[in-house]
Amino acid sequence: MPPVYTLAPDVHRLAKELIDEEAEFGRLRGMPMLFVSVEPTQKRGMTRVLGKTDIVSGKNALMYWTALKKSDQGPFHRITVAAGPWLNMDDRRRRWLLRHELRHCGFKEVKKKGKEPEERPCLINHDVELFNADLADPAFPDVEYVVRMAQSMPQLELRFTEDRAA
Ligand SMILES: [Zn+2]
Repeated sequence: MPPVYTLAPDVHRLAKELIDEEAEFGRLRGMPMLFVSVEPTQKRGMTRVLGKTDIVSGKNALMYWTALKKSDQGPFHRITVAAGPWLNMDDRRRRWLLRHELRHCGFKEVKKKGKEPEERPCLINHDVELFNADLADPAFPDVEYVVRMAQSMPQLELRFTEDRAA
């Protein structure tokens, strides 16, 4: 079944609350962002992808602005959540997931010849800083998630084996 994407106003509302209220996300205040949910839940190997952040740019961004009858405001971040799991999450878990995704949203300065430098959205990868922020989150995630995060960061040089202590 091909994935179906739907606008997610409740995700948007909660993200806006985090952006407006938490200093960590100050850089995102007033920036255009898109929040959608996807069905069915996508998988990466055996793992369900609960959230994903990417950047809409080029023609797709232009189509978006045109649909809103606005002038071209360039590329923007898009956060996608898995519709089913999202429905089953409590508020604390939703906030935790959104904070994690918002931590992926960064900006970099791009200079073009003869023009003023522009701030462009970029993605912040899983790194030690992001991981530390996740761990310090008041809604501490489950251990499985921490292990998955750690595994996605080769710079930690952690060795995982298939064996697990019960
Ligand atoms: Zn992530």
